[in-house]
This record gives sequence, C-alpha cells and structure tokens, in this order.
Amino acid sequence: MKPAAKSDQLRSFLPYGRQTIEADDIAAVAESMAGDYLTTGPKVGEFEKAFCKLVNAKHCIVVGNGTHALHLACIAAGLSKGDYAIVPAITFLATANAVRYCGADVLFADVDPQTGLMRPEDALDVIRRNPGKKIKAMLPVHLTGQTVDVRALREICDQHGIVMITDAAHAVGSTAGNEMVGAGIHEHMSIFSFHPVKTIALGEGGAITTNDDAMAKKMRTLRGHGMEQKPENGPWYYSMEDIGYNYRVTDFQCALGLSQLAKLNRFIDRRRAIANMYDVLLKDLAPVILPPHRVNSEDPAWHLYAVRIDFEKLCMDRTKLMNILREYNIGTQVHYIPVSDQPYYVGMYGAQNLPGASYYYEHTLSLPLFPLMTDQDVIYVAQTLKEICGGA
Ligand SMILES: *Cc1c(COP(=O)(O)O)cnc(C)c1O
Repeated sequence: MKPAAKSDQLRSFLPYGRQTIEADDIAAVAESMAGDYLTTGPKVGEFEKAFCKLVNAKHCIVVGNGTHALHLACIAAGLSKGDYAIVPAITFLATANAVRYCGADVLFADVDPQTGLMRPEDALDVIRRNPGKKIKAMLPVHLTGQTVDVRALREICDQHGIVMITDAAHAVGSTAGNEMVGAGIHEHMSIFSFHPVKTIALGEGGAITTNDDAMAKKMRTLRGHGMEQKPENGPWYYSMEDIGYNYRVTDFQCALGLSQLAKLNRFIDRRRAIANMYDVLLKDLAPVILPPHRVNSEDPAWHLYAVRIDFEKLCMDRTKLMNILREYNIGTQVHYIPVSDQPYYVGMYGAQNLPGASYYYEHTLSLPLFPLMTDQDVIYVAQTLKEICGGA
C-alpha cells in the first residue's frame, strides 16, 4: 500500500535544520551595509553587548565562526604542544580540531549512550587512565541543546587545575545548573556558533563568553592579528606580542545578529513546542523509536530533535530509512560520527574503545526541527515515520 503522505508531491523539502530570515532581518543588514562600516563598526560591539546581556556574562568576543571561537578559547586556556584536552567523542569535528590547532593533543571521553552527553564519570575515567599527562582543558558539549552536568564537571576541573570551555554551539538560550549557558559561573569560557542551522544565524559567526578579564583581553587581541595599539609610542604605533589571526566578523553580520537576537525567545518557544509535539506524536512508535532522553528538569533550547532508533527491531538500516524519508521530502542527519573514529584521529591516537559513544552513534537520527516548521509539517513527519515504521 502506498502511504498517503507520499502523494503529497507539492510538499517542499524539510531539512533537519534551517535559518529563519524575515523582512526586518534583511532590512537590518541592508541598513548596516549602506552605512560607513562594512566590517568592524558599531554593530559588532552592540551585538557583543546584547549577547552578554542574554547570557549574563561580563565579556563576549564575536568572531567569524564557532570554530574560531573554539580556537581562541583553547589558546586562552593556555593549550600548546605537550598539553592535553578532554573532548567528548560525540561532537562536531571542530571541538577536537581546535585543540590540534594549538598543537595540543586530544583525549577522547566516552558519553552517555542515551543522550550523547559527556558525564562526570567519563571525564574522571580519562583523567584516571592518563596519569602524568598535562591535562589543561576540558571541552564538554551541550549536545542538541541539552546540557552536561556543569557543576560536577567544574568541580573535577577545579580539582585538577583544568580550564573548562563549554561548547555551547547547540545551546544558545539553554540553562545549566540554574544559570544561563555562557554566564561564566560554572564554565571559564563558553563558545557559540551562529551558523544557519543553529538557533540564531549570522551567516557565519561565533562568539566566546567569559567573566575572566585576562582571557577576554587575550582573545580580543588575537581576533585581530594580536595587534595592540600603543599610542604612548605615537598615534600610528601598534605592537604584536603574540601571533594572532584575522577572525573578525563584518558589521552587517552583527546587524543580522542583533535582529535575530531580538527574536530568540520566539525561536526557542517554537523549537520547544515542536519537540513537545514530536514527543507526543511519536509515542506509539516506542520502543522502536524513542524521543530524546531528557536529562534534567531544565527545559532545553533544543537545537536538534535526535530520536533513538532500534534499527534491529525496525528491520531496516539507517541508510534505508534516511533514503525513504528523503523520498518523502524529509531530511534527516546523524549527529555525530564519533570524532575519535575519523581517520585523522585513528591515525594519531589509534582506535578508541568508547562503548557509550558507539551506541549513541549507532542509534541516533535527527528529525527536522526549525522554527518555520508548521504544526502540519511536524504531523507529516510523525505520520510518515509511523507509515514506514509502524509495522515493525
Ligand atoms: C556548529 C558547531 C561548531 C562549529 O561552529 P562553526 O560556526 O560551524 O564553525 C562547533 N561545535 C559544535 C558542537 C557545533 O555544532
């Protein structure tokens, strides 16, 4: 029998995530572009101030993308050759790569098989298995918008002299340990990404937030080639004490960011409503398909809606399911292949035995989740999954 959903030929493709750009966003960019500053101008500082206010942090440094943010945070944490940083195996490549940019080495931690989040015991396990190594940083990831146990992880960091950099690329607007993610209470630094699939879009964009004055100053300087103005030596004079980068962002991107930030609460509310709808609509598919396992009482600002699928019970592998869903114009994605399994890292550190990460990877699939989805879209995705998987 041909499912009814498939005959809906006019339905446009639903990606797993996408930006929401409205007329006022476009107007904000146009206005900024017509002004005096195409790159570093007033909007950069305004965006940084607004983002500080959002997450309750003292400092925000906006940069070209989330990967720049990770790189500068790793430098500010003091990572260099001979040092180590703990990174969960389930994350985007950039979290680990930033450590390598500094010449330091990555120690991959396992994760909770149900949530993909690094647990305190995973971090402790890495520390125990690596005596004598100079572990300088830990980069927990707030996967899908759900948050790690920041209090327990910070305690471990404090006991071992480790700088805690939370990768909050997925968690703009989430709370952790009763604080806004990025507030710098539990974490030393947090990094964010404003890529179009993330919660707010700058096109490309990223930021670091911190309450540490010295770290903030260092990252701000490194964003612009490590140049420091020294007017005492003359109005033209600048000096470079550390090697820096051009990790700047344009003024019109920040104009877009400001316009997007004003809508953040609406975006998050819609994301939560969609996640709640999916939870209810997919109930009948348990135990073959399970909704995300919710880790704590704090309602996350969901970036991804990642279901857990028992492909054996489904009698279908993930490739087949993804291909069928694509025929129905439903995009899905896998977040993530364990970074430790990537050829570069296997070549570097050998194959890792991280059963929680392997289990999570084998079972996860991200369904479409973005604010512009209508209730009908959500029902369509759930209905289609039921038609494909319901017989299992
Ligand atoms: C998107 C993302 C990044 C990198 O952000 P870019 O802006 O794409 O450089 C880092 N970590 C995680 C977990 C991400 O999802």
